[in-house]
Amino acid sequence: MRVSTGRANQSDSRMFNVVVEGYGIGQQRQAERVFTVPFGQLQSTIQTIARQGGVITGVFAIDHASDGGAAAPAAAESVPASAHGQAAPGQASAESATTAPRPAVSHATSHAAVPVNTYKPKSPFVGTVTENYSLVGEGAIGRVNHITFDLAGGDPQLEYIEGQSIGIIPDGTDANGKPHKLRLYSIASTRHGDNMAGHTVSLCVRQLQYEKDGETINGVCSTFLCDIEPGAKVKITGPVGKEMLLPDDEEANVIMLATGTGIAPMRAYLRRMFEPAEREKNGWNFRGKAWLFMGAPKTPNLLYDADFEHYQSQFPDNFRYTKAISREQQNTRGGRMYIQDRVLEHADEIFAMIENPKTHVYMCGLKGMEPGIDEAMTTAAAAKGLNWSELRPALKKAERWHVETY
Ligand code: NAP
Repeated sequence: MRVSTGRANQSDSRMFNVVVEGYGIGQQRQAERVFTVPFGQLQSTIQTIARQGGVITGVFAIDHASDGGAAAPAAAESVPASAHGQAAPGQASAESATTAPRPAVSHATSHAAVPVNTYKPKSPFVGTVTENYSLVGEGAIGRVNHITFDLAGGDPQLEYIEGQSIGIIPDGTDANGKPHKLRLYSIASTRHGDNMAGHTVSLCVRQLQYEKDGETINGVCSTFLCDIEPGAKVKITGPVGKEMLLPDDEEANVIMLATGTGIAPMRAYLRRMFEPAEREKNGWNFRGKAWLFMGAPKTPNLLYDADFEHYQSQFPDNFRYTKAISREQQNTRGGRMYIQDRVLEHADEIFAMIENPKTHVYMCGLKGMEPGIDEAMTTAAAAKGLNWSELRPALKKAERWHVETY
């Protein structure tokens, strides 16, 4: 277990992240989760988790200058809260408060200037919903919505950059009458927001639904968000996360592997790269190659598909979009087509890109895709005489392999 309580003492008012595996129910039980608690509740939280069969894999004091808060699970999983230092997404824009200094190289740069935990669970920012619309078409499986919040008027202003997450605290109380805990969502908008005004944030949320004892259970926060009306007030925390930040280099290559709502950060990257109003405002003239592998169960479940098709038609030399539609397409073994099958199909090109030190890989979505991607990369690497089990840690160390899954 990784434990970093730093200078904690009985009068300490800081918050802590407790990273847990195997806690919860059903699908969620598999995932790594992060609980943010004040120092005074640290011991009782650890005892409760242990009693309920959770395995605590890390405890980190949250330091405002480091990545912490309700850090996205995969960020906490891969990098101790105090040990970040990777690709800075900085740029020469007017919003210098959220901008990292321009690095000499495209990676291994301090993230000290990236905003984290501006608003904590005890005193969240209250944002206003400005829009909430469905992202899926007729015949899609389930509900996935795009929801935007106005962040104007915060003191301090809640600012974020592409690749970060925010926390949402749903209204109401849990079965014990306690206020609900926050849930983390990857941000789907750029720092300028969808309307370019610089004070909104957008999320891409699937309503969680599962069966228990013959009954359909709806996820508390995802249902709260999918049902919410414009004008509603919502408690927001964060931002958090430094695992999924874009490199600063305008000539970087970016390979994106997304399943379902794991597309959220990729949508922000692609807007930053190819959306005309965004390009004009951000002054970041992306000239590298971006390649998105998107996994969805059915065609109407492809999220932001028209935007990505448009970018591909407008920037054919810079953007490639490859889909794996699991319940409509088959892989070579006759099974469901997953993104790892697409990775295998294009193994040569992907490895040629990875050999270039300017190439970064981002993976976001279902944790279950990680072994499949690893397997595909192992096969593809072996075909080139390379050993993936050595290459992957080297890419991670060079801060070119970015994973956020749960
Ligand atoms: P979804 O619409 O159901 O799509 C997921 C796609 O991945 C489907 O095509 C699914 O295929 C496929 N898939 C299933 N198992 C797979 C595997 N082992 N390898 C590769 N592909 C696989 O997705 P969703 O419900 O939005 O789920 C997205 C997940 O991402 C959620 O668990 C969410 O919590 C997570 N997420 C994580 C982050 C983050 O870490 N920051 C952000 C957003 C979302 P079949 O269903 O047809 O088998």
